[in-house]
Amino acid sequence: MAILKVARLGNPVLRTPAGEVPAEAVDQPDFQRFIDDMVVTMHEYQGVGLAAVQVHESIQVAVLEVADNARYPGKEAVPLSVLINPEIVPLDDEIEEDWEGCLSIPEIRGRVPRYKRLRVTALDRDGKPLDFVAEDFHARVIQHEVDHLRGRVYMDRMPDLATLTYLTELARYWTER
Ligand SMILES: [Zn+2]
Repeated sequence: MAILKVARLGNPVLRTPAGEVPAEAVDQPDFQRFIDDMVVTMHEYQGVGLAAVQVHESIQVAVLEVADNARYPGKEAVPLSVLINPEIVPLDDEIEEDWEGCLSIPEIRGRVPRYKRLRVTALDRDGKPLDFVAEDFHARVIQHEVDHLRGRVYMDRMPDLATLTYLTELARYWTER
């Protein structure tokens, strides 16, 4: 397994909508190895999610896991999951605002409004269909990763950039809300 290089903001791969993964590609050894590399890379950089475009592969794959993460303390756990060709539909209009960061935009956080509840359909890493409801931080992470697969970053979703903050300043000037 290999730790992959993470593309940073400004790299055009982050602004290019990713292609669908053909169903027959899922059980190929190269593809399965790529998923393992994505998981290792996410763990290495303490991410709660990683989209394939962030490691220079323009395909619709995201991995996510929320455990006891130092970058996002106090968030509810989400088991390690792999989403291939994910589609999301908000279940209602309820929006929640919270801090977000991104491994492609190091050291910075901003407050981003996201839908609170989503229906998610995708394939898992074995190519089996997934269909589930995600809420709260889980829903936030999925919206962030699906945005990546559509060529968007979280800053695109901020109605007001005034909350953009370096991590050291976040700790110093912004208390937990
Ligand atoms: Zn990101």
